[in-house]
Amino acid sequence: MDESGERPVDRRGFIKGSAVGAAAFAAPGKMMNERTEEAEVHDADAHEHTHGHGHGHDHDHDHQDVPSDIALRVRALESVLIEKEMVDPAALDEIVDNFENRIGPQNGARVVARAWVDPGFRDRLLADGTSAIGELDYLGGQGEHMKVVANTDSVHNLIVCTLCSCYPWPTLGLPPVWYKSSAYRARAVIEPREVLREFGLDLPEDVEVRVWDSTAEIRYLVLPQRPPGTADMTEEELAELVTRDSMVGVARVASPS
Ligand code: FE
Repeated sequence: MDESGERPVDRRGFIKGSAVGAAAFAAPGKMMNERTEEAEVHDADAHEHTHGHGHGHDHDHDHQDVPSDIALRVRALESVLIEKEMVDPAALDEIVDNFENRIGPQNGARVVARAWVDPGFRDRLLADGTSAIGELDYLGGQGEHMKVVANTDSVHNLIVCTLCSCYPWPTLGLPPVWYKSSAYRARAVIEPREVLREFGLDLPEDVEVRVWDSTAEIRYLVLPQRPPGTADMTEEELAELVTRDSMVGVARVASPS
């Protein structure tokens, strides 16, 4: 699908080579897994969804206080479903509340902090991410099958979805705009070090970069390294340090200031 209508992501000058869309697939040697046909079926759906957010681009027609087409369609669908008693409005409110208040990177941060303080949990997390994350009750839609990859002094992991925007919702919430951009999706594979540099993370050449391609079947979470200066911190205090970006792999967790 053509993405040219989307507003360029201007975070830290990240987009400098946006015309690389399909080229992501030109560097299969760097991918850590391969997609299945089923994944692509799902991803086509997700792709459709991704493009529902493209109303922020520059264009000529006047903006008015009229809801967008998609908002109108959602409202119409919602009223019909409620009228026919096929959905409970309270259940819809609960879902919205979940995404606004309960699901987000704070959940992933608690997983990371637990792994930092509990070696047994860390071992289980790396051996079977789904099961260990389930211990903390952070499984759910778009996060049913989780793989956790640990950063070390010699390995840095980076997460992408080259085809669309697959992302572990229960542990990280909804994906940021840059994660869904065609530039990130392609360049994370082709030139991950340069992408990381643009995010402000300059990795030494002797650190191996591993790029993991999320799919409908499996979603990844990076276990960042515990920063220096945190030996006396509690699990809760440690969780406060862990950022979304560090769990996608575009940043490190900084020492407390
Ligand atoms: Fe995807």
